[in-house]
Amino acid sequence: MLDLIIRGGDVVTPNGVARCDVAVAGETIAAVAAPGALPGQTAAREIDAAGHIVMPGGIDPHVHMQHTWMLPGGVPLTTAGPTQVGRAALHGGTTTLIDFAYWREGATALQAIEARDKDFVGKSPCDFAYHIMLHSEPPPEFGGQLAEAIQAGYPTLKIFTTNIRPSGSGRMIDFGDIWEAFQVLAKHGGLGVIHAEDNDIVMHMYAKLIREGRVGFEHLAEVHNQLSEDLSFRRVLRLGESVPGTALYMMHVSAATGVAAIAEARRKGLPVYGETLHQYMLYSAEDYKRPNGQIYHTYPSLKSKEDQQALWDGTRDGIIHTVATDELCCSLKDKIAGTRIDDTTGGNSGVEPRLGVMYTEMVERRGYSLPRYVDLVSSNAAKIMGLYPRKGAIAVGSDADIAILDPSRRGKVRAADLHETDYTPWEGHDIFAWPVVTVLRGKVMVENGAYHASPKDGRYLKRKIPADVLDGSAL
Ligand SMILES: [Zn+2]
Repeated sequence: MLDLIIRGGDVVTPNGVARCDVAVAGETIAAVAAPGALPGQTAAREIDAAGHIVMPGGIDPHVHMQHTWMLPGGVPLTTAGPTQVGRAALHGGTTTLIDFAYWREGATALQAIEARDKDFVGKSPCDFAYHIMLHSEPPPEFGGQLAEAIQAGYPTLKIFTTNIRPSGSGRMIDFGDIWEAFQVLAKHGGLGVIHAEDNDIVMHMYAKLIREGRVGFEHLAEVHNQLSEDLSFRRVLRLGESVPGTALYMMHVSAATGVAAIAEARRKGLPVYGETLHQYMLYSAEDYKRPNGQIYHTYPSLKSKEDQQALWDGTRDGIIHTVATDELCCSLKDKIAGTRIDDTTGGNSGVEPRLGVMYTEMVERRGYSLPRYVDLVSSNAAKIMGLYPRKGAIAVGSDADIAILDPSRRGKVRAADLHETDYTPWEGHDIFAWPVVTVLRGKVMVENGAYHASPKDGRYLKRKIPADVLDGSAL
């Protein structure tokens, strides 16, 4: 007896798109078969997906939930947690979110994980995982702890090369420590996930613009600029190259210079992967001039139209592998509380419309194939982050994480229709398909707007980076 059959949809499988029935038993996919070919099989539930697209649930490899951010005047803001953000994600067809565990001074890596579990376990309707985020100068015993964490199923380490804002001391890791970290990652099969900006350039530009009285946030693109991305990406990638076996995932690529640096590393055969954000692909620094222009901002800043084009080209040429959100879900009031280059709230609110917006922009407007679109919003993140084929695939044995998109559900993004917060930077954006059913490990979580998930449904996903990602041959 099967638990669920999704009948007659256009199913995006690892082998292409085919009109199929997808059968689910328990938490996993039991069969993917030609319509009507599941002989004599009945299921507790059937969903008619005729005319719909059936794809793996979205995976967002870069979100910040229950995250503390400093508003102007040093007022701490704690962003929405996994219950709220996960609910929005499921409504938008995303089933897995990867956040961060903060590895601070005085704690071990595994203690950092345990501390973060308090924010997530029993509170997340989506499946979830963490990148371990180095948050201060690593202690001498750090290598052993990192190796232990990688073996225990926590194989990704987030490293910052900048403090991002003048007030943000403590995040930036110096290159000697990064060098040490790369040696541990390379030896034990970990992946470095990098926020790369050139701290000297960024802090110089803050000082210069403040001196010149050009402190409005509309100048952010001059601070977090293309040269900074160029220098920092190349320095990190060169450091990685010097430690054979170092695999790197460059987070939120925002500039043509970043795309070019990754392309050059990949031409040398290095295992380097690129992530961008839908924000960077569709908004530019011009959008800062719109009303409440801060809502389009994250760090590093939006860039030019030319940079945007390079990001699109990167998704086509296999240099950009994933489209994430850098989710940081807060109210409009908190998002626009900062108005200066040095106090504007970062992060995006976009986890819910990500699949719909990217379908519109990739498949309908730019002619991307469905498999390419699915790779960029789901499968590639699963592969790079060590979750594939458990996640990111509609295949026998994979977790039954499924989004069903209805291409007849056309309209505009409206904050009032979303479940995220009281605004959306995607207000008014065209939607040419919307996820109408979301399934997580066999459970129908959302169906035609009705929410059936519980914050207890989500599970932590232990991961292992596969050899073909570490050596660069996977993608
Ligand atoms: Zn981030």
